[in-house]
Amino acid sequence: MTRVGRAVAHVDAGAIERNCARLRCELRDGVQLCAVVKADGYGHGAFPSAAAALAGGASWLAVASVQEALAVVDERLPARVLVLGPLRGGEVKEAVLLGLDIVVSEPELIAELSALAGELARTARVHVKLDTGMGRMGVRDPAHATRIVTAAATAPGVELAGVMTHFATADERGDAFFEEQLRRFTDWVRTVKQQHPHVVAHAANSAATLRDPAAHFDMVRCGIAVYGMDPFGEDPLARGLQPALTLSSYVAAVKLCRAGESTGYGRRFTAAADTYLGLLPIGYGDGWRRALSNNAEVLVGGARRPLVGTVSMDSVVADLGPDPAALALRETPAILIGAQDGERITAEELARRLNTINYEITCGLTARVTRVHHDEDEVLAVGEEDEYDDGMFLV
Ligand SMILES: *Cc1c(COP(=O)(O)O)cnc(C)c1O
Repeated sequence: MTRVGRAVAHVDAGAIERNCARLRCELRDGVQLCAVVKADGYGHGAFPSAAAALAGGASWLAVASVQEALAVVDERLPARVLVLGPLRGGEVKEAVLLGLDIVVSEPELIAELSALAGELARTARVHVKLDTGMGRMGVRDPAHATRIVTAAATAPGVELAGVMTHFATADERGDAFFEEQLRRFTDWVRTVKQQHPHVVAHAANSAATLRDPAAHFDMVRCGIAVYGMDPFGEDPLARGLQPALTLSSYVAAVKLCRAGESTGYGRRFTAAADTYLGLLPIGYGDGWRRALSNNAEVLVGGARRPLVGTVSMDSVVADLGPDPAALALRETPAILIGAQDGERITAEELARRLNTINYEITCGLTARVTRVHHDEDEVLAVGEEDEYDDGMFLV
């Protein structure tokens, strides 16, 4: 039985489902939604996120590796699974056995796949990637990419399933390089489709999907927006996206801190006047980064409270103010990401404080944070287990 209590990430499956339905509204008829569930669903849990995304209208899933694919290859998840990252050694064979779609950037892999497909009596489904400017995976030269397309289309046991690219600057508004990449891909896809009209062309991440319908092609690959975070780092609610993750802990103890007394390692907070301090059992061991020391707020008792002093591995301290009513806040929830009584703290706010992006906030939550999956008020699962004991204290 899983024990929960000190730090919990509540994941709302309904929010993921609605975000996918919201994204689908952007798409022309026939354009498919691929939900990206790499990095354990951006920290939300890959399997439940995938299930919710499919319920919301996604028909493909994408992961970074064969190992990650194992979490979502399941008869309860009727979807094609695309592995976005490179494969090494035995992973190629495993991918073919599992029926995964894989990305190809070199012609030698087509021959290897054809041989494996024959040996295993399977079909190897491939997506040829054109590097239009991201400068990571993919082939730079469109003519060379076309030769790989032809090889994939003619090799026995190999199916040319897709052609793709990836944008470097879709989240930077007004950046002309996005238009340049889009033009390069559009030109190439036009020639490929003359020979292979049914190939699935795809390019857009969340930012490109929301920014330009011309980038949608036959499928979009959305990650961050699926989880209700904003690809442009702004307020997700303004774009009709609903954050799916709430990070909570609780006030484990409250005590009076006299003027001049300090809290935490290095004495980086000293009370200017008498105040009540609340101890929250969450720290950098949970992914609540140390750079948030004296640099974040939490929601306790329906109000924003500053976190004071250094973030420890296992705990942080909130300043609950001078009113002795603070003593009654013991055992009440502390919301570190999410909403309470109309106040909100977003992953985007934390990203700004840390000079990073919202992606890193939820991906950075460690395994010590129990994931609790909800749909509305119903608890679907706690952690990896299906069982849930009503007697447990969920914060
Ligand atoms: C991660 C990833 C995506 C999803 O990007 P978001 O910005 O989270 O929507 C799409 N395509 C590729 C190739 C990726 O690696």
